[in-house]
Amino acid sequence: MVPGIHRPAVVKVNLGAIKRNLENEMEHLEPNQKMLAVVKANGYGHGAVKVAKVADEVGIAGFCVAILDEALELRRADITKTILVLGVVSPEYVPIAAVNDVSLTVPNLEWLKEAEKYLKDANLRLKIHIGVDSGMGRIGFNEDADFIAANEFLKDNNNFFVEGMFAHFASADSSDETYFKHQCEKFNHMKSVLTVKPKWIHVDNTAASIFHNGIKSDLVRFGIGIYGLNPSSNPDSSDLKSNIDLDPALSFESELTHVKTIHQGDGVGYGSTFVADEDTIIGTVPVGYADGFIRKFQGFKVKVGDTYCPIVGRICMDQFMVKMPKEMPLGTKVVIISDNPNDPNNIKAAADYVDTIHYEVACLLNDRLPRVYY
Ligand code: PLP
Repeated sequence: MVPGIHRPAVVKVNLGAIKRNLENEMEHLEPNQKMLAVVKANGYGHGAVKVAKVADEVGIAGFCVAILDEALELRRADITKTILVLGVVSPEYVPIAAVNDVSLTVPNLEWLKEAEKYLKDANLRLKIHIGVDSGMGRIGFNEDADFIAANEFLKDNNNFFVEGMFAHFASADSSDETYFKHQCEKFNHMKSVLTVKPKWIHVDNTAASIFHNGIKSDLVRFGIGIYGLNPSSNPDSSDLKSNIDLDPALSFESELTHVKTIHQGDGVGYGSTFVADEDTIIGTVPVGYADGFIRKFQGFKVKVGDTYCPIVGRICMDQFMVKMPKEMPLGTKVVIISDNPNDPNNIKAAADYVDTIHYEVACLLNDRLPRVYY
């Protein structure tokens, strides 16, 4: 996708805020606890390489990504620390990971056996983190028998270096700790069955680290907190407060590219879902669902100049329209999403408006929107 450098629409990322969030979490870690910075999905839409460079300087132990290509992007950018791919990489690509010193997740025993064939053929050694399914129901070992067999398989196996064992929480952002505790118990059980000795055992995500004291592992996989966002985004857990300061880093800005008055009976946008009942000033903003600003945002209020104005009519592929209380000049700044958590168009409010979580709103903003760093 081509970034739109000749149109006034950008995602701004405050690298100072990212640095502060990382430093705050570093201070919050237990003695001997380290951090893996989660920069998957292009750093949750903020830009993986830029975020990784800041994290690298702050002194983290390594990085997590979701797919092998994201790891390779970091290696190409001269990131030399540990990079763990959290998702399942097809065994045929295991040699690429080994050659690039990328650590992979072991989802089950079959994967391990398949991966070994490719490593033996190429005479390579791979760093692995054994995935445990403690209740996320996604990937990893959930049965003792297979887990024990995998441990046996790995004993004295020169094709693998067991760098880690890990699990993931499904509800660490919830004030109801019942399932969280169940997951901790299952994880501790799997730990007790472990016979190989990983360098790191890790389980905390941002929510587990900043809301709970129940489990302290060797590493925190710090994701959403890097970007200054509170992971407590479910309606049932809005009471959970972070015990570190979080400073949102992302804002999304554009400008008015067209302003006009429409008259009684005139419609706006596809399907004319807005029809003026009087003379109405309409501003046009050159951003649409093709940028990841989805149609459900119709009705959301964005800040035009100093005034919050509702989006009227359906959001088009590349443009949307706002109803303005007064004439404003072309080029007037439009803050679509504010990085100020007190503003009504902050990212959490935007996510609530379209019935999702702020993780998704940030990730949806795609590469057509240039990232501007400051
Ligand atoms: N660990 C795993 C396995 C994940 O999938 C994720 C995010 O989805 C994280 C850590 C980071 O989670 P968070 O962004 O909530 O800190």
